[in-house]
Order: sequence, then structure tokens, then C-alpha cells
Amino acid sequence: MSSKLAPNAEILRADAESALTQARPDQTSTLSADELLHEIRVHQIELETQNEALRQAQAALEESRDRYVDLYEFAPVGYLTLDSSGLIAEINLTGAALLGEDRQRLLKRRFTRFVAPDDLDRWRGLFFGALQGWERSSLDLAMRRGDGTGFYARSDCVGSGPSAVRVVLADITERKHAEEEIHHLAFYDPLTELPNRRLVQDRLGRALAISNRSRHYGALLFLDLDNFKTLNDTRGHDVGDQLLIESARRISASLRAGDTVARLGGDEFLVLLEGLSTEMQDAAVQARHVGEKIREALSEPYLLAGREFRCAASIGATLFFAEAESVETLLKHADLAMYKAKDAGRNTLRFFDPAMQTALDVRSALETDLRRATEGGQLRLYYQPQVDNASRLIGAEALLRWEHPERGMVMPGSFISLAEETSLILPIGEWVLTTACVQIKAWSTASATRDLKLAVNVSARQFRQPGFVDQVRKILTQTGANPQSLKIELTESMVLDDVGDTFEKMHALKALGIGFSLDDFGTGSSSLSYLTRLPLDQLKIDRSFVVNLPDDRNDAIIAQTIITMGKSLGLDVIAEGVETEAQREFLDRHDCSAYQGYLFSRPLPLAEFSRLLTTE
Ligand code: C2E
Ligand code: MG
Ligand code: MG
Repeated sequence: MSSKLAPNAEILRADAESALTQARPDQTSTLSADELLHEIRVHQIELETQNEALRQAQAALEESRDRYVDLYEFAPVGYLTLDSSGLIAEINLTGAALLGEDRQRLLKRRFTRFVAPDDLDRWRGLFFGALQGWERSSLDLAMRRGDGTGFYARSDCVGSGPSAVRVVLADITERKHAEEEIHHLAFYDPLTELPNRRLVQDRLGRALAISNRSRHYGALLFLDLDNFKTLNDTRGHDVGDQLLIESARRISASLRAGDTVARLGGDEFLVLLEGLSTEMQDAAVQARHVGEKIREALSEPYLLAGREFRCAASIGATLFFAEAESVETLLKHADLAMYKAKDAGRNTLRFFDPAMQTALDVRSALETDLRRATEGGQLRLYYQPQVDNASRLIGAEALLRWEHPERGMVMPGSFISLAEETSLILPIGEWVLTTACVQIKAWSTASATRDLKLAVNVSARQFRQPGFVDQVRKILTQTGANPQSLKIELTESMVLDDVGDTFEKMHALKALGIGFSLDDFGTGSSSLSYLTRLPLDQLKIDRSFVVNLPDDRNDAIIAQTIITMGKSLGLDVIAEGVETEAQREFLDRHDCSAYQGYLFSRPLPLAEFSRLLTTE
């Protein structure tokens, strides 16, 4: 065996011997050199065996590490570690691929940059919860890559501590799309892509609960196309389908973003309007307005397979409020109303509630008549004298009257608000201003009337129209009226409604020489600081504070205060609705400067007003 020892075995043995003598210099060695050598060999073999085992363990370790790295990097899910401020500290290759970026570029990037805005709050809840060591939790998140493409990911916070959160991201886009597809099939009409009956019933249920809280009315419109069946029978289903698709598009285009339109089947559609007025009558007007808009849109000609086709719709409407009626009852009411519309000759809208229908019919008739009145010369201006404290005539307020061919003289209280809602106030207001300016011009030629000022009421809608200042300027030029003789009456509430616009327009008109009176003063909630910034000339004490003078203590104080305030702001103060000498006397005693009311004269047609001038 020794012959098999390496060539340096002899040297080893010599070394061993010398080592022995050095270690035990005073003892005689108990082991011979050969025995020693043998021992060393045994150790050497043991060592080699151990080394081999170590190498094998190392190789196994490396292999398992490689396997781990492969598993980590190419796992079917993304692994990320986020630091406590939400920056990506570590991410595997799958994760990087999911987020659509190079891994290196992702490090230190904020994870929330990849979460869709709508889901940010939910994600933050999960993340901060995890940082605080909450139980493992997960969320389905809508995600968004840097290039704008979206995907869905299930994100699990699997491990966390105060300084880092480990997240597993699994791509669930396909599952989500499948779910959406199923949802779509269950709740949408495949032809028009509109919600189906089931979905709209569900939404109506929710709308009732919302109305219960908000106290706003809502409405259901039930639509049925009038000529669908004929088209379907004569031109085939494909053309019929085209009509349905186009009708659906037109209905949707007539609605606001929050409204719902659904196809119930066949040629029936349902429209759900929410958040209408808190007043029933106003809500009915709004619902009818939307219904009419849809009806008009649907009655425009259709071009179907190269040929023009005309169609119309019968619409049934019903209002809902809170949870007074069930979903089923409301659908039935809207359906019944639709049949009323069919009975009434089609291409029309009918309300379920007969009283409501009557009220709306009266309004409709009034609107048609008012339109005719505006064009057909039925409007009149009456003039109510205004006097100073010595009862001398100083001017007049122009008040509108409508000479209706059947109903006789209609007072502004019955039609001004309708005119405002229908925008008819724009031509009406222009007519009033022009007529007033023609009168101012006529008065300017006689000495008795030259100094009269004419006050004209201007409504909010009219004042707010963008070209109002230009319109007034044009009327002044065309009529040749002296702007100094014209006074515009605005009300407190409209002045405060859009202070910026009011301020600009009043100053522009003031620059033309026109005066301003603040009508119905005291009924609104004027802020003094605004009042001082407006170029006003006059405050008009509202009739409600005059009527109980001098006995009502509160009204007496209010009237007195308005006069004092007006004076201190350097404004004239006129009292309207003065009917008795006692009222006039009280106001006069408190230094009111002008009066208007039945005590002096009622509003008069021009001829009578002129007669008044000659008898003065
Ligand atoms: P207003 O501007 O406050 O007009 C005063 C109203 O009080 C007038 O009613 C007038 O006839 C009435 N009146 C005047 N003196 C007395 C009185 O001593 N006792 C009583 N009980 N009433 C008196 P009118 O003419 O019915 O007008 C009502 C409202 O209609 C006006 O209130 C004004 O806001 C509006 N209006 C009238 N003409 C026009 C117009 O041309 N354009 C606009 N936008 N609104 C107008
Ligand atoms: Mg007035
Ligand atoms: Mg008034």
C-alpha cells in the first residue's frame, strides 16, 4: 500500500516523525511513524468523503436555487415587493411582463401608477392595511400599463411588515372578460346594446330608493314605435333591425348622461329619468320636455337600406316619487299611458295621471297661444305713473299685458314664467324694450314729457343672454331714444345669481347712460357688499312691506331701514304698491323719495296715460 502512496509519502512520514518529537520532546512516541501515517490517511479519506458530500450538497443547493429562481421568475403570477411608500423594490419577470415594462425600469417606480384611477382607493386600503399587519387580503383590480392598455389582476398581499409588502399579482383579464360577457348577455339587448328589461327594472328599484332620500321626482317613459310592424312585414327583419338600432341611438342621444334607456323587446323602449324637480308640476313639465324631444328625434326621416322611411312613437309617461309605488305598478302605469297615447292618434305623449295631463294640456295650449301672441301683435304695454313726494309725475313703469283673443287681458303673472321656461321671453323682452324706447323717443319731443323716465322690467333669462348689452345698444340706436330716460328694473335674486356677469353687464349698460332700479327690494337676501359694488340708482321697496303700513311694526321698521340704507348708499328709494294716503304719509315722513301705486293710478294703456299728462 505504501508503494501506492504518493511520491512525497516519504517526506510526509519524515514530517510526521519530526512533528511527533517536537510535540512530545520528552516522551518517547507511543505510535510508530507507520501507524501515524495510517491515521493520517484515514483522516484524509474522511476529509475527502466529507468534501465530496459538501460538493454534492452544494450542487444540490445550486440546482435548487436555480429551480427556485426559475420558479420565481417564470411563475404564472407576478411577485412584487413594495416598500412602505409603495415603491417597487423587487419584481419577478412575470410581474414585469404583466406591467409591460423592463424589470430594471420598474424598480423604484410607484406601483399605483399601474392601478386604474377608479380602483386607487380600494388598492390603498389594501396596501395600508397590509402595512399595519392586517390579515392577508386580496382584491380584483383594474390595472393600466404605461402604454395605456388595461388588464385585470387579482392582487394578494401575502406577506407584510411595517416596511414592506409582498404582493402576488395574477392576470385575471380573461376571467373578467368572460364575466363581463355573461353579465352583458344577461342584462343587455344584443341588437341595440341597450339595457334589457331585467336591468332597467333593477335600476328603477334603485331610483325609487334614491328618490326617497333626495325627495326629487323621477319619471318613466314607455315608448312604442308606431309603424314598426309594417316595416318589418314589408321590408324584412334586417331592415326592421336597422330601424331599432337607429331608434335606440336617437333616444340615447336625446337624454342626459344619468338617464337610462332600455329595450324591453320588440319595438318597445323604456326611459328612466331621475333627479327631476322636487315639485310635481315642474317634474311633469321636465318629463314631458324630454319625451317631446325623443318623439321629435324619432319622427325625423330614416334612411334604411337606401330608402327613406318615416316612423313615429307613442309615449306613455308616469312620474314616481320616493317609494310610493312598486316597480311593477309603475311599469304598468307607463304602459297604460302609452296605450292612451296610441288611442289619442299616435305620435304623441300622454301622462298616466289624467289631472296631470289636463294641467299640461292647458300649459301647452298657453304656450302655443303665447308663441302666436308674440308674433301676432297681441302684446300691450301699460304705463303705471311714478310720482315724487309732491305727487308730481316723474315717470312710469312699463308693465306687460297680453290681449288674448278669447281669454281677454292676461296679466304677466300668468305667463312670464312660462315665457322664461320656453325662451319666448327673449322675443317678448325685445319687443318690450323696443316699444318702451319708441315711447321714450316720442316723449322727448314735448316739454311736458321730455323729463319722464320709463322703467322696464327685464327678466333673468333675458338679462343673462350673451348679447343683451348689444341688443339694448342696437334698440337705442334704432329708436333714437335717450338712454338717460330708460331705467332697467332687475330683481335682487337675479342680480345675485351670477354676480360676475351682472357686474359686467350693468357697468356696460350704465356706460351707455341707462339707469337701474332694484325691484322687489327686501324680499331677497342682498348682501350689502355686492349692492355697493353695483351701479344702482334706485331701490324699490317691495309691495309686501308697504301693504300693512303704518300699523305693522315689523314692516314699518323694514321700510324705514330700506329708506335709510338707500339714502346712505346715495340711492333713490321708491315705494311700490302704495294704495292709501296713510301709507304714503308714513313713507313720506320717513323721507321716501318716490311712489307708485293705485293711490296715484293703476297701470294704464298708452292713450289713457297720455290723457293723464294733458290733465296734469
Ligand atoms: P313688478 O315689476 O313688481 O310690478 C309691479 C306690479 O304691482 C304690477 O303688477 C303692478 O300692476 C302691481 N301694482 C302696482 N301698484 C299696485 C298697487 O297699488 N296695488 C297692487 N295690489 N298692485 C300694484 P303686474 O303688472 O301684474 O306685473 C307683475 C309682475 O310681472 C311685475 O312685477 C314684473 O315682475 C312682471 N312683469 C311685468 N311686465 C313685465 C315685462 O315687460 N317684462 C318682464 N320680464 N316682467 C314683467
Ligand atoms: Mg317692476
Ligand atoms: Mg316690484
